[in-house]
Amino acid sequence: MHEFDLIREYFIWSTNQASVVLGVGDDGAICDIESGYQLVSSIDTLIAGVHFPQTTSAADVAHKALAVNLSDIAAMGALPKYYTLALTLPEVNQPWLRDFSQSLKQLSKQFNISLIGGDTTKGNLSITISIMGWIESGKALRRSGAQIGDGVYVSNTLGSAAFALWQLNNNEVPDVTNLKSLNRPIPQLELGRSLQGIASACIDISDGLEQDLSHILVASNVGAVIEVEKLPINRVLAKRILKDGDYSLPLNGGDDYELCFTVPEKNQAMLGDIAKHCGIKITQIGVICASGGLEIVGAKNIGESYQHF
Ligand code: ADP
Ligand code: MG
Repeated sequence: MHEFDLIREYFIWSTNQASVVLGVGDDGAICDIESGYQLVSSIDTLIAGVHFPQTTSAADVAHKALAVNLSDIAAMGALPKYYTLALTLPEVNQPWLRDFSQSLKQLSKQFNISLIGGDTTKGNLSITISIMGWIESGKALRRSGAQIGDGVYVSNTLGSAAFALWQLNNNEVPDVTNLKSLNRPIPQLELGRSLQGIASACIDISDGLEQDLSHILVASNVGAVIEVEKLPINRVLAKRILKDGDYSLPLNGGDDYELCFTVPEKNQAMLGDIAKHCGIKITQIGVICASGGLEIVGAKNIGESYQHF
């Protein structure tokens, strides 16, 4: 199959986004951006065997590649609009491409975002998505705004995806919901947008809570104290932790794609309504204090967050 036939077959579909003036097919895409808005952009690469097990289905790979990028846009409090896709394939495997394309299209429709271009090359399987979103000027959430006394919060539960991966690697059968967290992460876009003007700092948890919260602390020049007993953990993993007291999965496992954010006291009363509106759980796990790094009360013998190098 010729490269251009492949693109036409699998990577062009109709979208109803008025801001896309020219999509896939030319040397570049053209998009309008409304006045009063800023462009937020982010890029993430998934490499087979590094970011997902080689056995992961095409549909799950596509979902994850887009969802992790959407998660970055969520962490900025922005609205995702369009993305480009750089795909490196070992071969032209049409059933694989069909599943990949269908899954990508489905998630794109769900969040009303358009695929506006890309690049297709041959090599070891890798997927790079560059995503762009809009934010009302000056409203983006950053890592740098946390203040002493702010509460530290996370959405939903932590460690579920990492637990599923651990089980797959240790010949155990993962629980269905944990496996879903690993393969089909849900980007917290509604939460991110709801936190505009409420949260003082925000990050999405991709490499593990300890490492990602530390990014907020360094950027904001503050410290934090969190307690392992307060970490939201699903029932299956909690049961395991009760036995061995090992909190390394929720602290360092990564692949959560939940949001970790800080909120000043005056805004904390609004979090209940936000959680209800977004249909999610929000849990306070600690507080921001004067600089001195991250203190984790109750954690013993935990490993390190994921490091690429
Ligand atoms: P060029 O050589 O000018 O960079 P290409 O031949 O790489 O263009 O691509 C032709 C068109 O197809 C471009 O509009 C490009 O953005 C798009 N495209 C290529 N690969 C993909 C892909 N995997 N997904 C979406 N669009 C793609
Ligand atoms: Mg060109």
